[in-house]
Amino acid sequence: MGNREQQLRDITGNSFDICVIGGGATGAGCALDAQLRGLRTVLLEAGDFAGATSSAATKIIHGGGRYLEEAIKDVDPNEYHVVIRALHERVRMLNNAPHLTRQLAFLVPSYHWLNVAYLDIGLKIYDWLAGCARISPSKYVSREETLERMPELKQQGLIGSVEYADGQFDDARYNLALVQSFSKVGGSPLNYARVTGFGRDAAGRLSGASVTDQLTGTQFSVGAKVFVNATGPFSDSIRHLATDSLPRRMRLSKGAHVLLPLEVFPTQDAMLIPKTDDGRVLFAVPWNGRLLVGTTEQEVSPEDELFVTREDIDFMFGQLNKYLEHPLQPSHIVSGFVGARPLVSSGESQSTQKLARDDVIEVDAASGLISIMGGKWTTHRAMAEDTINAVQKTLGNPVTDSPTRSYVLYGGEGFRVDLWEKLRAAFPIAKETAHHLAAKFGTAAWRVLELTRENRNLAEPILAGNPPIQAEVVYSVREELAATLEDVLARRLGMQFYSWREAIRSAPAVATQMAKELCWSSEQTNAAIAAYVDKMNRILEHAGLQPETLSGATAGHASAE
Ligand SMILES: Cc1cc2nc3c(=O)[nH]c(=O)nc-3n(C[C@H](O)[C@H](O)[C@H](O)COP(=O)(O)OP(=O)(O)OC[C@H]3O[C@@H](n4cnc5c(N)ncnc54)[C@H](O)[C@@H]3O)c2cc1C
Repeated sequence: MGNREQQLRDITGNSFDICVIGGGATGAGCALDAQLRGLRTVLLEAGDFAGATSSAATKIIHGGGRYLEEAIKDVDPNEYHVVIRALHERVRMLNNAPHLTRQLAFLVPSYHWLNVAYLDIGLKIYDWLAGCARISPSKYVSREETLERMPELKQQGLIGSVEYADGQFDDARYNLALVQSFSKVGGSPLNYARVTGFGRDAAGRLSGASVTDQLTGTQFSVGAKVFVNATGPFSDSIRHLATDSLPRRMRLSKGAHVLLPLEVFPTQDAMLIPKTDDGRVLFAVPWNGRLLVGTTEQEVSPEDELFVTREDIDFMFGQLNKYLEHPLQPSHIVSGFVGARPLVSSGESQSTQKLARDDVIEVDAASGLISIMGGKWTTHRAMAEDTINAVQKTLGNPVTDSPTRSYVLYGGEGFRVDLWEKLRAAFPIAKETAHHLAAKFGTAAWRVLELTRENRNLAEPILAGNPPIQAEVVYSVREELAATLEDVLARRLGMQFYSWREAIRSAPAVATQMAKELCWSSEQTNAAIAAYVDKMNRILEHAGLQPETLSGATAGHASAE
């Protein structure tokens, strides 16, 4: 992808066929689809790619069992359509990024025979709707086998479970793979580039965007024939920049997750609790060596700063602990994340739980702005396909086939599950590092490791005893447009999602490496560390956990090198 300075120079003042605003799953998907169809495309993201909702998902590639239940109850063909489309996209998502996805078995534990029968019938319909896109058939699992696979489940009254299959993925890295693929085929992505206004032609249609570089405060403009608003939870703000009389469409639902050591609930399968006390779905899923527990649902507004709160934790643990022999404690929590589901409403009355997770494309007749709103990660590609169809129509071009249906993303080309062994045979790295690199970067891990040939120190771990190595920081800055500590620690290397405290302790080493790449002064470097530690400690505080202080030795790392 090259570095950010270069991208900024290439984009500033230039004109494109299409400008996609928002670099989450939806925007990155749109940008790739457009560029692959031969449209010269620029992708502008106000923060970091995947910096908002798209790295805060439960990371499940699914048709949506709960939506199916609603479809059956409501006898609504539109709701069936949402599930069927997602089930087909599920397979595409798995195939297009084999390094970032996997199939996953879900067990729904049951303590009542009626429950087993109800679930079994529902999941058979799920299988049937999937048709040729079925992963593996759902089935009843005996009490003995259920306890073998989930030994920490509450035994009293357990009848067995119903098993079904969906997919799982690394959302932040999937988002980055979309952006990198977009760049590879000639697209122009830029993060920390906020759209703040529009220029118009004589007919009042959008012809240019005013953009602020969030890192320097510099303003610049970008021209385009069509503008796509893919800003997820923030869609209304861009719609109102284009035409301020448009009615609000977005309703946001906060969802919080926490991660715990997998030892507290050792399992290779995911557990689904289909109905919490207030009718929500709750998951406990093994993910990246942790147990991922989520999610909550609470209506919020785009201006709210979101945190995982003690209230979120108490709710989730309160529900989950009913199913466990040994209750989870807040002190088990090692990390977490929170995001806002972008749901589209047609009126004011419905609760966010009731709003369908379907997407809506709106073409604003006055300004020409095309907004793609709602949807979910699993359907990002189909949403992008439909959006770019709308763009081609707006441009008066014939609608061409979408190449993204079977387009293997960056890092997925030639990927095989034994990649980690090959990396290890070629470079002197630990087994855990090889696994980590293969899982995060796929075949691009070769490029990461090539950096260690020019500088052997880059093969050193960022934090002693942990898999991520220094070369990943350099690669993130040079090849993935990383500009801040959080860009590296959270979305590129995943350390912040694995452990808040380890991420804090890694900050000085990461900052030192970034400073070399980005020519930061020691003041800038120390300020970056302080800002990151401060932000993380606010996160810990909201979760009701003790803050983390850097020891003298660790904190001194930045200045010592
Ligand atoms: C808790 C939770 C769990 C979920 N779990 C799943 C799941 O398991 N599976 C699934 O399929 N889906 C899941 N989803 C849904 C899925 O995560 C979202 O549908 C998806 O990530 C939305 O992507 P997006 O690109 O539309 O929005 P976002 O990822 O929020 O991206 C919008 C981007 O627009 C940028 N932006 C805003 N304003 C501007 C501006 N003025 N200029 C430039 N850029 C701007 C923002 O910075 C942001 O990065 C979940 C959602 C939540 C909240």
